[in-house]
Amino acid sequence: MEFEVYLKNSGIEFLKDHPLKEFTTFKIGGKARYILFPKSTEQLIRIMTLAKDEEMNYIVVGNCSNVLVSDKGFDGAIVSTVKIDSFKIDRNLIEAECGAMLSQVARKACEAGLKGLEFAVGIPGTVGGAIYMNAGAYDGEIKDIFEWAEVLDENLNRLKLSNPEMRFSYRHSRLKGEKLVLLRAAFCLQYASKEDIPPLQKANEFSKRRREKQPLQFPSAGSVFKRPPNNFAGKLIEDAGLKGYRIGGACISEKHAGFIVNVEDAKAEDVRRLIYLAQKTVYEKFGILLEPEIQFVGEFETPLFVPKDGQNRR
Ligand SMILES: Cc1cc2nc3c(=O)[nH]c(=O)nc-3n(C[C@H](O)[C@H](O)[C@H](O)COP(=O)(O)OP(=O)(O)OC[C@H]3O[C@@H](n4cnc5c(N)ncnc54)[C@H](O)[C@@H]3O)c2cc1C
Repeated sequence: MEFEVYLKNSGIEFLKDHPLKEFTTFKIGGKARYILFPKSTEQLIRIMTLAKDEEMNYIVVGNCSNVLVSDKGFDGAIVSTVKIDSFKIDRNLIEAECGAMLSQVARKACEAGLKGLEFAVGIPGTVGGAIYMNAGAYDGEIKDIFEWAEVLDENLNRLKLSNPEMRFSYRHSRLKGEKLVLLRAAFCLQYASKEDIPPLQKANEFSKRRREKQPLQFPSAGSVFKRPPNNFAGKLIEDAGLKGYRIGGACISEKHAGFIVNVEDAKAEDVRRLIYLAQKTVYEKFGILLEPEIQFVGEFETPLFVPKDGQNRR
């Protein structure tokens, strides 16, 4: 098999038939046929080319901080970018490879007196994952500072996309819709002025708020649901009486009902059942359909909730 021969000869770190739960922030997930850690975009592209040639399923992931992986795992290659992680700051422009940790990039930018990425200091994902998700917090989002990205399309052609070409919207980018893979990107920030709160101070305040409000002591994938218009998923779930509700080893967090936490060796199906329950209960009580923000990898037995009348009542 050319794929495995290449892996062995190229020195790429890889694991075979290995549980993904070791790599997800949820600490949940069955085995993948391969888990790969390329060290350069060239290796990443070579892996994708070989996987395509051998008709093997593959998914490019970052730090797996926004994914729920099925208990059955994934019959294919999970290609993690976390070792493709260099970035540089040149005046107010940051150029980063896909696997650079957003939190580290953001902290360095703040230390350099640049504003615009303070919101990202506590987001535990990579640049690629953050752009895919148009990650955001505290009134900031990737879209606000994104300059350009180099991506691969499904046929592995390289494209350079500008901010409008990325078609960002709330927790959405063109990467999602068109299965593009992000190789590297640039962010354009601004120098903080004397009147501004110093960026590092602002970032530290956001981190403090996170520690106060979020159940960071338990494995999770952050907020499970997108924010519905003019509302908050956590508040709706709490008002529906589900705070602290437990199924198997997974629980709707007591501290923040928008989070599902892994309290005791949870299975992916435990989380899916809580997602279904939260969606159904909130829909029946308030007529609002909660849409998952987290991404699902693999196959699940528990479906997502689909209302009989088919759409949001409110
Ligand atoms: C405690 C906690 C707090 C969080 N807080 C926030 C928050 O405040 N705001 C927020 O928006 N999110 C938050 N998240 C969710 C998550 O950290 C972000 O969505 C993050 O941007 C995901 O990055 P990742 O590298 O972990 O992506 P992954 O989880 O690895 O992947 C997410 C999706 O992106 C795709 N992807 C990853 N890399 C690439 C690439 N190079 N090219 C193409 N597709 C790619 C994957 O296939 C997958 O579909 C939080 C999560 C946790 C655990």
